[in-house]
Parts: sequence; C-alpha cells; structure tokens
Amino acid sequence: AHLDRIAAVEPQVNAFLHVDAETTLAQAREVDGRLAAGEKLGPLAGVPIAHKDVFTTVDMPTTAGSKILEGWRPPYDATVTRRLREAGLVILGKTNLDEFAMGSSTENSAYGVTRNPWDLSRIPGGSSGGSSAAVAAYEAPLSTGTDTGGSIRQPAAVTGIVGMKPTYGGSSRYGLIAFASSLDTPGPFARTVLDAALLHEAFSGHDPMDSTSIDAAVPRVVEAAREGDVAGLRIGVVKEFGGENAEGYQPGVLARFRETVELLESLGAKIVEVSCPSFTTALPAYYLIAPSECSSNLARFDAMRYGLRVGDDGTRSAEEVMALTRAQGFGPEVKRRIILGTYALSSGYYDAYYGQAQKVRTLIARDFEAAFHQVDVLVSPTTPTTAFPIGERADDPMAMYLADLCTIPTNLAGNAAISVPCGLADEDGLPVGLQIMAPVLGDDRCYRVGAAVER
Ligand code: GLN
Repeated sequence: AHLDRIAAVEPQVNAFLHVDAETTLAQAREVDGRLAAGEKLGPLAGVPIAHKDVFTTVDMPTTAGSKILEGWRPPYDATVTRRLREAGLVILGKTNLDEFAMGSSTENSAYGVTRNPWDLSRIPGGSSGGSSAAVAAYEAPLSTGTDTGGSIRQPAAVTGIVGMKPTYGGSSRYGLIAFASSLDTPGPFARTVLDAALLHEAFSGHDPMDSTSIDAAVPRVVEAAREGDVAGLRIGVVKEFGGENAEGYQPGVLARFRETVELLESLGAKIVEVSCPSFTTALPAYYLIAPSECSSNLARFDAMRYGLRVGDDGTRSAEEVMALTRAQGFGPEVKRRIILGTYALSSGYYDAYYGQAQKVRTLIARDFEAAFHQVDVLVSPTTPTTAFPIGERADDPMAMYLADLCTIPTNLAGNAAISVPCGLADEDGLPVGLQIMAPVLGDDRCYRVGAAVER
C-alpha cells in the first residue's frame, strides 16, 4: 500500500531519492519468514520506514543529497538502520535532504526540491525535508532524520507531524555521514507521539561504535507517550522565544503557541516564564561551530575514497583531481560552509571565532541548567513562521538560517527536544509546531508533554 501511495504522489512531492520496490518486498518477505519461524521481534516488526539519505544502507545507495556521492553504495549499515532492520522494519527507500544536511528547506539538495504536501509551492523544511514530507504525505508511516541545528524539529513543525531530537549521544552516529559531529543527532519522525516514541526506542541505546554514545538506559519514552499526564509538571515558557515581547514571529504561530500553553495549564501543569538570555546568541555561535566541524569532516571527500572523481585522465596530479572533484561535486551552500569553517579555524582567528563560540556554547548550557532547576521542561514555538514559499529564502542565507532560531540552543547544549503539531495558523492554514525541551536524558518528558498536547 505504501509503495502504491509513493507511486501516486511522488511526481508532486518528490520526497524520495531512491525507491526500490523489489528490495522492499524482499525485506518484507524476510520479516514474514522470521515471524513464521517464531522469532520474537519488536512492536514495529513489518512496519515500513523511510530513511534520510544520510544513513548508510548496504542494499541501497547513499548520497547525502550530494553529487559527490552519486552512485555510492556503502559497504555497511549505519547503527540506526541496522537496529531497525533487526527489529523487523522494512525500508521503503531513501529520502531527500539538503546536501550534507546543510539547510532548512531541502532546496540545497543536488537532486531537486521536495514539496510540502500541505501546499506544493512551499518548502517541507530541512534538512530532513524528504523524511518529513514522506510521513506527512502518507508515503511512509515512520521515517528517520538527523538534527544538527533543527533539521528534525523544523521540518516536523512545518509539515504538521511529530519530530524528536533525542539527547546527544542517545542515538548512534555510526554510519551517519558526518556534518558537525558534536551536534549531529539521529531521531524519529511519525504522525503521532506514540509512534515516534516506539521508533525512538527501537534504534536508541549505547553503541560501542560511536565514541560519544552515552552508556545509560534509554529514557522510558514509550511509557511517557502512553501516559501523557502533565498534572503537577512545571512548564517554563522561554521569555526570549515567543514570550511577552516576541518579535519576528508570525502572529498565527504565536496564537497557537499561547493557546497550547493555556491548554497545558488547564491539564494541571504549572506555567512559569523563564528567561534564558544566552539563547539569543545561539544562532551566531552555531554558524561558527557547525561550519568549522563541517570543513574538517568534509575533507574526507578527496576524490579517492568515495563516489565522484573528476579529471583523472592520467595527466593530472592527485591535488588537481581533488580540486576539480570538489569544485564540481559540492553545491554552493556546502562550499560556503567549508570556506566559513576553514576561516574560523585558521591560525590567528581560532580564538576569536571558534574559541569564542565554544564559550557561548557553555553559557547556553548554563542557561538550560538554571532553567531546569526551576521547571521540568521548557516550551517555545518550534519555528518563527510556518512553511515559506519555495525560492523565497534560497538566495538569502541569513533569512534561511533564522528558521532554526528556536531549535539551535538544544543542539549546542546536547539536551532533548521534540516538535509536536499544535494547530494551524490563521493567516495561511499551515501547521504550527510546539517545541518541548527537556534536560539531558529527560527525553521521556518531551513525549509526556507532547502526548498531552496531542490529546
Ligand atoms: N538548518 C541548519 C543548518 O543549515 C540545521 C541543519 C541540521 O540540523 N542538519 O545548518
């Protein structure tokens, strides 16, 4: 049924980079066989899933949305894809994304834009825009994404679905093509909070293959999603994001946000306003740290190891082939980030830019820490606006970067946050997301509050 749905709507939505019905059906038959043989599989056995094309998969190509990896077939599965395969989920295909997960609209993909199923002239968010669109368009019940600065929560918000950024280190980065290693976090997309929790649980937990993986029990996310009880919970409204004097937010976003806070209060939560002054410096700090790590991570695309190789005709040096390949293989946003990051890390500037940004990062973590002494979770709108028109911000990187204003602090501090749908904006009838932020390893609180909002 999902393959049929994909065939019917893909010409409009373009959520997928790779769909392979034969491989999918072979996987489904294998799961049937395992069940018939009496193997105990998890609650999602047999459920189809779409993976963001930044997770390696042995039986499907992996491009990271880049020409430089066109046609690359990884020799191994990412931990996320491997664990879900073992749990009996069936892969429908690989979804579109901004090249190397850099962007907020999926317009930076080397393979064309993905369209928002709510309004085909608008963006589905990014960078995991293929995964959000696929779930919103009922092409897949579940999908995976990665969130480095908001790339799960923002696309979830603008397509009206649930998207969760787990605690950093709670989900494995092994086999995830790296963008900014200290921020990259795999997480789930689903149409309900409980579905997201089931998927979260299925791929989470310690992984010796990822040196930053946390060796702790997975938070009890499924239980929390089933309960959805917020009576007595202390919920902090972030003053700087959607609080009293919020500027730059779409009125319809603020209206739904404030109504949802009132709803939580009526369900017995205690609402307080909390100030997190350093959050307003998160965006500039992120745009030094993330490009710095990207410039270092993307050095591996040297024309020798993977994918594309340009100009290797026996007359050119390795350096020339590398330069030609990178010039043709990377798109403009990726080049912008590599140049920014290389500059920020260069001798003489390192302390002024990268060093300074790392200090800001500490201040943001301290704001969270202070806030979580007062409250159990923090809430804000997930994004300042609803889905914007395709092309509107494509030539304006600063406007594009603003889409992640509210989501980035969580990445810098490494804690957990979810986006859940909280209604439609009056101006345009498009979905609005509520962001719920919890402490490190407090992922269950995101699901608890999310489930209350959903009901
Ligand atoms: N939009 C942000 C960026 O362009 C975040 C991306 C992400 O989370 N992968 O870097």
